[in-house]
Amino acid sequence: MANATLRALRADITRLAVDAIVNAANSSLLGGGGVDGAIHRAAGPELLHECRLLGGCKPGEAKATRGYRLAAPVIVHTVGPVWRGGSNGEAELLASCYRKSILLASERGARTVAFPCISTGIYGYPIEQAAVVSVDAVRATLEQTPDVREVTFCCFSEQDLSVYRAVLAQQAE
Ligand code: ADP
Repeated sequence: MANATLRALRADITRLAVDAIVNAANSSLLGGGGVDGAIHRAAGPELLHECRLLGGCKPGEAKATRGYRLAAPVIVHTVGPVWRGGSNGEAELLASCYRKSILLASERGARTVAFPCISTGIYGYPIEQAAVVSVDAVRATLEQTPDVREVTFCCFSEQDLSVYRAVLAQQAE
């Protein structure tokens, strides 16, 4: 993964001054609750207009828009899997969200990318498992995207942050 930095911090992702933020969207791409609602509110109504033109998005896939009123000029919208016990392809779909989001952010010229904890809110994916899947997928993808210099795992709770800190520390050993 060349020399990219992986970091975890506790923040509101709509406030981060990075090149691309990732949205944990639903398949309509027309906004929703959680981080999706926060991103639409912060970016402003132009975001919904652009999203309407995208024709939705399948789980594991990603589509990009502009960032409008956000500091981040690019938003990558990805649709995570709904947790249904873990033996329904959830890990592969979640890894695909992280992989395709980095590839698309990189195509759009991003050098710094921030992710929320995709699928771990309303979609119910256990954070401990999601953190391992996401860190593995990001590390593997960064091998193909030498321009991406930093990936931030933006945690909304102190508990999610401590899970990410543990996973990143283990894997750095
Ligand atoms: P999903 O439907 O993919 O589970 P959610 O939005 O319900 O998506 O939750 C994903 C994660 O985003 C959760 O950890 C939630 O706490 C977090 N989250 C909610 N609002 C924000 C925000 N403004 N910035 C960063 N993370 C957020």
